[in-house]
Amino acid sequence: MTGEALEGFNKRDALNWSKVVKWLSLRVLDSSLPLPTKGFVTFEAQYIEDNHLCHLTEKSEFENIKGRWSYIQGTPETSSKEISLNQRCPCGSNKKFKRCCMH
Ligand SMILES: [Zn+2]
Repeated sequence: MTGEALEGFNKRDALNWSKVVKWLSLRVLDSSLPLPTKGFVTFEAQYIEDNHLCHLTEKSEFENIKGRWSYIQGTPETSSKEISLNQRCPCGSNKKFKRCCMH
């Protein structure tokens, strides 16, 4: 499989996912470049999915193929907890969750 195909696959995947997920934050914790053609990025993200507040950390591997960085693989670690309808929305709007980011 070429890098382009991999990239295409992940774009499609990300597109489907982004429909049901509301991103709250994305933070890069660490990045390294052990080889000119290989890189690692560790990031942390928070998002709302199906009335759950989810927390994700992942170390992702990227490879530079013909001048373009492609996502190769990653090992995500996720945790989530349910958001109750009347609690303040985790997005920081100060509204109740049911009147804000609930799908
Ligand atoms: Zn909200």
